[in-house]
Amino acid sequence: MDYFFAETLDHALQTARSKTAQGKTVKFIAGGTDLTVQIEDKLVSPGLLIDLTEIDELRGIKKEKMGLRIGALTTIAELAASSDLPACLLQGARSIGSPQIRNLGTIGGNICTASPCGDTLTPILALLGILTLNSPEGERKVPSEDFFLGPRKTALREDEILTEIWIDNQALEGNSAFRKIGKRNGQVISQVNTAVWLKKEPGSGRISDVRVSVGSVAPTPLRLRKVEQALCGKIVDKKLIEQAEGLVEMEISPISDVRAGRDYRSTVTRYLFRDALEESLGA
Ligand SMILES: Cc1cc2nc3c(=O)[nH]c(=O)nc-3n(C[C@H](O)[C@H](O)[C@H](O)COP(=O)(O)OP(=O)(O)OC[C@H]3O[C@@H](n4cnc5c(N)ncnc54)[C@H](O)[C@@H]3O)c2cc1C
Repeated sequence: MDYFFAETLDHALQTARSKTAQGKTVKFIAGGTDLTVQIEDKLVSPGLLIDLTEIDELRGIKKEKMGLRIGALTTIAELAASSDLPACLLQGARSIGSPQIRNLGTIGGNICTASPCGDTLTPILALLGILTLNSPEGERKVPSEDFFLGPRKTALREDEILTEIWIDNQALEGNSAFRKIGKRNGQVISQVNTAVWLKKEPGSGRISDVRVSVGSVAPTPLRLRKVEQALCGKIVDKKLIEQAEGLVEMEISPISDVRAGRDYRSTVTRYLFRDALEESLGA
């Protein structure tokens, strides 16, 4: 396997294009915390790895007039230390792996791996994150909800690089929370995770806008539209929370796997959702 350090985005894209044309299987590598495991397990066997980690233009979190720009190579540790992130994304980042994994792993790698249990995915969906994908032809913007096509399947073409994640001011103005459960408290992959984002009308406390996403209960992270519809425009009380929890269970159809059983996942999603909702409401 060949290894190549790209110094610029253009360098990475052109190299990928020319090596693919020569018949090589090319993979981009960032922190390598997912990809090296996949190579070790022989799930992928690239002929060339293009290392993106020296491309400085893909790093960092920038607060701009209209929103937040997060470079794809920003590490999970950098996210976890940021004071600019909405709570759900901050909590999602802080829940990932160990300090070693957070120091190496990147948000771009977490998103492009597209594991249904990835802990930045549900926050990005709830925040309506927009992903910028670059290829030698230029760039395209893809709403995060259209990016995840199945377990480890995305809308990325072979020679495309995810360069940044955009979160609009509209999403930065709401309140949000993330919850995850795993087999232990630290260094653990989610059995289920969820993110809730909402905005309340000042004064009445009525929910004027809300988004709920769940992970690890379907082949891709999901928005729960029926739950959102049930909550939107309402003043939340105990009865409404119970009704919304019931809809959570109706909207998901988790499977049993090595991490958790179907029934456990269903029940626990309901309670993680309630917890995240209550935190977002400031209860
Ligand atoms: C011990 C351990 C614990 C973990 N715990 C968690 C956890 O709690 N929660 C969690 O969500 N994940 C966890 N992970 C998974 C992993 O650490 C994260 O998904 C991490 O964010 C991956 O980022 P990376 O930069 O290392 O990706 P890489 O391994 O470098 O890449 C992953 C995939 O994305 C592609 N890729 C990377 N960057 C780009 C880009 N900019 N454009 C296009 N394609 C790209 C690569 O080609 C590869 O297919 C864990 C992993 C390990 C080994």
